[in-house]
Amino acid sequence: MNNTNSVSITQIAATVADVMGVEPPLQAEEKIDWLSALLKSYANGKVDRTVLYNPDAIALWLFQKYTADFAPVLKHTQVGVPLKTVFPSVTPVCFASMYTGTQPEIHGIAKYEKPVVLIDSLFDTLIRAGKRVAIVAVKGSSMAKIYADKALDYYIETYDEEVCEKAVELIEKDEYDFISVYTQSYDDAMHLTGTESEVALGAMKNQISIFEKLALAVEKQANNHSTLLGFVTDHGVHTNDKGGGTHGSDIPQDMNIMHFYGMKAKI
Ligand SMILES: [Zn+2]
Repeated sequence: MNNTNSVSITQIAATVADVMGVEPPLQAEEKIDWLSALLKSYANGKVDRTVLYNPDAIALWLFQKYTADFAPVLKHTQVGVPLKTVFPSVTPVCFASMYTGTQPEIHGIAKYEKPVVLIDSLFDTLIRAGKRVAIVAVKGSSMAKIYADKALDYYIETYDEEVCEKAVELIEKDEYDFISVYTQSYDDAMHLTGTESEVALGAMKNQISIFEKLALAVEKQANNHSTLLGFVTDHGVHTNDKGGGTHGSDIPQDMNIMHFYGMKAKI
């Protein structure tokens, strides 16, 4: 039996585009019809803002095994979707697939390297539609590099806490229609100390707590917007023969992820 999830991460770009009422990226795979319809049904009128939180490496099995820790994510979202990511399951490859809606052979990042993605992405289609877009990401990370040089605002921060602080500030200032927020402390911790070490699980909870801060900031502005909120990771993780934390393989632990989406409807 193949235990890999059935829906692909390459369908997310077109789905988010549809919920926001913009064209999908030019080469993106088909949207997830039921997800898009469901999310739009939770909105009050037009969905005029999106905040996508990208915590690195939150495997589906982490959610299955440490479900209670995810209560804040469940509290602020209405839909969970099991997805399969792309191979090789490493950060730049997966985020290139998530935001362009394409397989690695199409977007061109096929291994762990961080060149600028040259094909059309969700960021480009949002910009063409006149949306104001921001990326908030940790310095040196894939999300700080692979979508560089676009007509959007980049907030490149030292580490997760600074990213969180900046993202909350941007949500409160209310100057953007789309904000992508990337943090990496679980991924860093699990590479150094193992996937289920105390330090790594603490970092996982920290990622969840950052999401909660973003969700609460969005909620405060429910008078002004119907906002799509996402807890959307890139790939999973597994423990190798030596007991270390890693990812990049074509195995369920690395390929299976879970995305959570919520609609904070305008009141
Ligand atoms: Zn990653």
